[in-house]
Amino acid sequence: MLNVKNLVVNYGAIQAVKKVSFNIQQGEIVTLIGANGAGKSTILHTISGIMRPASGEITYLDHPIQKTAAPKIVQAGISQVPEGRHIFPGLSVQENLQMGAFLRKDRAHLSQAYEDVYQYFPVLKQRLNQDAATLSGGEQQMLAMGRALMAQPKLMLLDEPSMGLAPLFINEIFEIIQAINQAGTTVLLIEQNAKKALSIADRGYVLAAGELKLHGTGQELLTNSAVQKAYLGG
Ligand code: ATP
Repeated sequence: MLNVKNLVVNYGAIQAVKKVSFNIQQGEIVTLIGANGAGKSTILHTISGIMRPASGEITYLDHPIQKTAAPKIVQAGISQVPEGRHIFPGLSVQENLQMGAFLRKDRAHLSQAYEDVYQYFPVLKQRLNQDAATLSGGEQQMLAMGRALMAQPKLMLLDEPSMGLAPLFINEIFEIIQAINQAGTTVLLIEQNAKKALSIADRGYVLAAGELKLHGTGQELLTNSAVQKAYLGG
């Protein structure tokens, strides 16, 4: 579904992503793990068209997208849930969800999109008219995911969904990610919580200082001693 080949991304003189190659098959949950500053978010921003690579190719459903504008990438079926949620404070929960469907031309399926979001996140339905800024951290994460789902993406990019959340919310968010995946959405997940991410991922890639170091199934990486030592606290 997505093929990233020899991706190089720079911030001025800083090379943040160094010839990174990986792929995602339709239906998978794939995770990128790595320490702070490893280049994970930069890769997501480049797939979504927010950043441009210095070189390399990104192919999505057999089309090159490394020069495609971000709105067109959303319309092609890739939605990003950004790190830190970036919900719109001052807008209601419902208005935030509407923003997720802003670029959609096929308004006919919108009511199904709302139903899907309410099914995953019943709490959002209860809070539709509430200012999004008054939601708890966990609820804001749910809103950010719901907003992305309003575009009915084929591929969902999740940047640190567990960041700053209480353990109970983390478990719930990861269960919902699995449910969204089982309903047919392919997932690329970036996480500092490597243990959680690898436990739900079909495959994972380990990134350090902008380079890919290891690749394997979620289970293989969970039991890999180098991964355990560096990322799983053991
Ligand atoms: P984090 O979990 O902290 O977001 P990450 O793995 O997602 O880490 P990136 O945010 O992609 O890492 O950062 C990769 C490298 O690029 C780091 O060295 C970082 O300092 C640098 N970097 C990121 N954003 C910028 C920026 N706006 N300007 C300059 N350098 C940046």
